Amino acid sequence: MTAGQIDGVVIRGPDEPVRAAVLSVGSELLLGDLTDTNATWLSLRLRELGVEVVHHLAVRDVLGEFVDALTWLTARVHLVIVGGGLGPTVDDLTREAIATAAAVPLEEREDLAAMIADRFAAAGRQMAPQNLKQARIPRGATAYPPVGTAPGFGMTLPEPTATRVVALPGVPWELQELFARHVAEEVRQLAGARATVTRIVHVVGRGESDVAATVEPLLEGRDDVTLSFLARSSEIQVRLTVSAEDPAAARAASQPLVDEVVAAVGTAVVGVDDDSLEDVVLRRLGQRRQTVATAESATGGDIAARLARIPGASAHLLGGTVAYTAAAKEQLLELSPELLRDHGEVSEAVTRALAAAARDRTGADWGIGVTGVAGPTSVDDLPVGTCFWALAHPDGHVEVYGRRIPGDRGQVIARLGSAALDLLRRRLVEGPHGG
Ligand code: ATP
Repeated sequence: MTAGQIDGVVIRGPDEPVRAAVLSVGSELLLGDLTDTNATWLSLRLRELGVEVVHHLAVRDVLGEFVDALTWLTARVHLVIVGGGLGPTVDDLTREAIATAAAVPLEEREDLAAMIADRFAAAGRQMAPQNLKQARIPRGATAYPPVGTAPGFGMTLPEPTATRVVALPGVPWELQELFARHVAEEVRQLAGARATVTRIVHVVGRGESDVAATVEPLLEGRDDVTLSFLARSSEIQVRLTVSAEDPAAARAASQPLVDEVVAAVGTAVVGVDDDSLEDVVLRRLGQRRQTVATAESATGGDIAARLARIPGASAHLLGGTVAYTAAAKEQLLELSPELLRDHGEVSEAVTRALAAAARDRTGADWGIGVTGVAGPTSVDDLPVGTCFWALAHPDGHVEVYGRRIPGDRGQVIARLGSAALDLLRRRLVEGPHGG
């Protein structure tokens, strides 16, 4: 088998990387009723197989527009994966559009007709004559037998285009199953035995542009690595994508660079790959056989929930209190009405008292307290985003920080939670007294 060929037809030159496109079909995608999760899923799988996805396109169920899109894409890439439009109704146009682009007729395939009939019989359903439409595929195409009711197919367009075009049903589980059974192997034939791995460095407490300014110079002249930044509410991800002959080799090739990025970004690095902030906090607590409890106002329990999602959290998360109103802070945590009145609910002093109460009332080693104005309206004349987070240490001393956190309500809640968890992570890494 020679890489770059399918059924003996040369689709890409020996040193060219495979370039692919995903073409999603369905008017509901363009109306905004349906999110194109198939394109995302296909991109991930193709990337793992060492293929560069260079276009995502969506078209309505309109034949002329569909054929135009196919013509445009097949002139630019080696592989087009079409998702959807393989059903039995008049608006399912994928078979016709690909046959038109390939300038071949549709042919009814008896083997497919029999399979479709069998599937209906097995489900105890009456097959409508129009379902036989699904057995008609372009002449010369290779059929992928149905896992639902719609068969898929793959064909190579005639020279000079020589693009491989693959058609898969739109229903996500059917698309994924047919991809795994038939298309993955074709893609391996095209791409050769290459694999792509993305390594992720998780960073908390620094802005995206600040992290980029540190990391970008490390990658100058490295054409073999693709660098990207993903700003999530709770963290910044530095993503390094590397290709090699297999996943282990790609991981090994990327490791020195991952180490360099970790060293350059320093203590703001929370973890690498699957290591999230919550994982690291719980692991460090485990190493010290220590526990934590929370008293949360603005985050409404989100910090405790984030920890609780990690398996094994119960050994180190003792509990959390959501004390949203002033009355709840008095009743549930015995904060004094004077403290709340004199300093205001969102204040250093109240946040400090919350952290201390979280620790004292549960007997945990560490206590986390947070208050803030999550928005959209200001509270007590404090602007939206004003936040405080505090950490009560095992020896009883409490440290507290405050800052204005940008973003909408959801982002403020996520970022405030990350700030508090990251403070605990740093102290667990550094030593018992923060030094
Ligand atoms: P079938 O014959 O099995 O219905 P089909 O190829 O005709 O397959 P469509 O009619 O285009 O598929 O889509 C069927 C359903 O699959 C849609 O209603 C939608 O729920 C889902 N779907 C289609 N395309 C996508 C997409 N790009 N992303 C996510 N879901 C999709």
